[in-house]
Amino acid sequence: MGAGNEWIGRDEAVVWHGFTQMATYAENRPVIVERAEGHELIDVDGNRYLDAISSLWVTTLGHRVPELDAALRDQIDRVAHSTLLGNGNRAVIELAEALAPRVPVDGPHFLFASDGAAAVEQALKIAFQHWTNQGVTGRTAYLAFGGAYHGDSIGSLSVGDGGFGTDVFDPLRFPVVRSPGLDEPGGPEAAVALIAGHADHLAAVVLEPLVQGAAGMRISSPEAVRAVATACREHDVLLIHDEVAVGFGRTGTLFASEQCDVRPDLLVLGKGLTGGYLPMAVTVASDRVYESFLGPDLSERTFYHGHSYSGNALAAAVALRHLQLVDEWDVLANVRARAAQLGAALAERVAPLSGVADVRQRGLMAGIELAPPADGLRWGRRVSAACVDRGVLIRPLGDVIVLVPLLTSTDAEIDRIVDVLAASIVEITGTTEAVEVTQRPSP
Ligand SMILES: *Cc1c(COP(=O)(O)O)cnc(C)c1O
Repeated sequence: MGAGNEWIGRDEAVVWHGFTQMATYAENRPVIVERAEGHELIDVDGNRYLDAISSLWVTTLGHRVPELDAALRDQIDRVAHSTLLGNGNRAVIELAEALAPRVPVDGPHFLFASDGAAAVEQALKIAFQHWTNQGVTGRTAYLAFGGAYHGDSIGSLSVGDGGFGTDVFDPLRFPVVRSPGLDEPGGPEAAVALIAGHADHLAAVVLEPLVQGAAGMRISSPEAVRAVATACREHDVLLIHDEVAVGFGRTGTLFASEQCDVRPDLLVLGKGLTGGYLPMAVTVASDRVYESFLGPDLSERTFYHGHSYSGNALAAAVALRHLQLVDEWDVLANVRARAAQLGAALAERVAPLSGVADVRQRGLMAGIELAPPADGLRWGRRVSAACVDRGVLIRPLGDVIVLVPLLTSTDAEIDRIVDVLAASIVEITGTTEAVEVTQRPSP
């Protein structure tokens, strides 16, 4: 028995973990992290775990990246935080200037927040007020998609679909026009028809381009995303792209919107913005949207909204250095190479297992859907635990095993993740087909 058990006891006595049933928290043998090195997290007993979920999709280049550590230290010696309400901060200006030519938004303006949900909330309110600022009063609704996840505040929960035990909050959700997921048969056509039918009361359409991460990595095509964008343009409905999960390289381009050839009116970024170092998110508005808020001082056209830690200088300094490193290290080329490797390895060693129903992947985001023969077997949980026992940190979404490797993953690390996953699935589900399949010569 290592120190870990003592720490788990201290943890559950005082810390309330999100999306976690605390009555069974300790039984599920949580990893208590003390420090990290590169791509590995190290627990209080000194055990090492390869981070195969990028600390819930936020970490991009790795942990304790010397360059990012240096940027943080350097900013600490200047100022940690100063408010953005009515005043500016040099680190934030430099970050916004660096992001401006890179984001897929025309004439971008950056409104910072601390979490993805808060930045989604900002986008929803901006879209709403964009219309009222112009004297248009009927555009008060949103169209969102089946399987959508946009965060846990009441507004972001409302545009999100149900699930994850959040149905209890249904009475608090505001109604939205719900279109089937873009990955469903007829999904794009249904969305286009709903946009046309509801155009005069829609403020905006909210969409996760290419990948619905929290839905279990549901993948839609660039053409489907583009069809929605075209319908929005045609009917003068604002388009909000939520790239909190897919932004900053996860799908092989800096932003997923680029692969769809779409420039949304509002873009929401979070998670990878600071490379996984500090909580920072941002709502990016096109100049068309931004300009509808301009007017006399103290006028009602102002966006009366702002968070205490909006534009935190430490986060901004790290985010700026992070963006530079993505270029300097040619990280996107590695993402594309590792994504191809991951796809091939999953197809060969995981997809043929009889316990596996489906493998979905885009870039370095993958979902392996297990097919338990009965309810209550907790295959997702148990396969993940078996991976953790083998030193690879994984977390499921129900019975979907989610792989979100670091963008700087090596060839050997991708190989190890897939090996460990295949062995864990075989152990828990009792199927062995993978062994036969890997021995078969490739076609
Ligand atoms: C994680 C996520 C959010 C919410 O971000 P938080 O920082 O957790 O509030 C919103 N949208 C998408 C697509 C996400 O994956």
